[in-house]
Amino acid sequence: MSPAPLDLPLAAWPDWFAARGGRPFHGRSAARWLFRRGARSWEEMSDLPAGLRRRLAAAGPPLTSVVEREAAAGDGARKLLLRFPDGAAVECVWMPGSRGRTLCLSTQVGCPIRCRFCASGADGLERNLAAGEILEQALQVRARGSFERLVVMGMGDPGLNLEATLAALDTLLDPAGGGLSARRVTVSTVGPRGALERLAAWGRPVTLALSLHAPDDELRAELVPGGRRPVAELLAEADALFAAHGREYTVEYVLLAGVNDRPEQAEALARLLRGRRCHANLIPYNPVPGLGYRRPVPAEQRAFAARLRRAGISVTLRRSLGRAAEAACGQLRRRTLPC
Ligand code: SAH
Repeated sequence: MSPAPLDLPLAAWPDWFAARGGRPFHGRSAARWLFRRGARSWEEMSDLPAGLRRRLAAAGPPLTSVVEREAAAGDGARKLLLRFPDGAAVECVWMPGSRGRTLCLSTQVGCPIRCRFCASGADGLERNLAAGEILEQALQVRARGSFERLVVMGMGDPGLNLEATLAALDTLLDPAGGGLSARRVTVSTVGPRGALERLAAWGRPVTLALSLHAPDDELRAELVPGGRRPVAELLAEADALFAAHGREYTVEYVLLAGVNDRPEQAEALARLLRGRRCHANLIPYNPVPGLGYRRPVPAEQRAFAARLRRAGISVTLRRSLGRAAEAACGQLRRRTLPC
């Protein structure tokens, strides 16, 4: 658990500071220091009274995590490995892009979904992150520079830790906090039961990225065992989310050679997506040592994309960023942990 006030909604920060001998407006000031100016300690917040800063520092730092490793890729992607006081480690990636720098946040330590091709789930779930711990990732990166876009695509599935994820997003979207626009935020999930309805009820128009990876129930259950749900049901829920807030969603599909990249699978995917307000994002597989899957060669990737396009589906083939920074989900943590 990170210390207050990061786990609290921003609206509760004035009271938190008042209860510690400060003034309510110190809450707003501290939020500015953390989210806008990249401060990582109470001491740096020079417009807070020295006595208050000393008392707060004696009770503990505003951020509990330490950056244990930092890896950089030639393509500009950077990856931080954060360790919390209980020993839990998560990673966050920060990468340049044509539409601004993007921060990728983790929501769980490990992951219980165990997608067959993904490094994050290889060791199962250790625990959920608290809202403050999700925010700490953004703050550690903010201390190193700024970012314009946010994707919740790191370790874990936000749909299984949705309340903490939404609380963190509330703070990141608040003009007095991270100040991000909902239109620059994407939440990626396998769509656990109830999660997409909850996202719709929350009401902020963030983009949903639905991890589908297969055009039929049988293959999806095999590839995404912890997210086993009928494909038609998942897409119907994503359609309902579009109806609720008007943001088109993305369907993510990791291309695995010989597993889900055959022509008839492209045709089946096109039939599923036709007429829906979505965009298909094909992700060439980033090989994880030991998992036994292969990335299709570029010509095969392009052929799959072309079949979808010919069927009238909006599609992109993702360029792989961060490979040299071991940015495929879960890889940096996996290398670092004793296992
Ligand atoms: N748990 C969330 C976030 C996962 S990471 C989710 O499943 O949506 C974001 C995307 O990267 C997901 O679609 C995930 O399946 C995919 N992914 C995971 N491992 C990958 C790998 N080694 N190569 C390419 N994509 C991968």
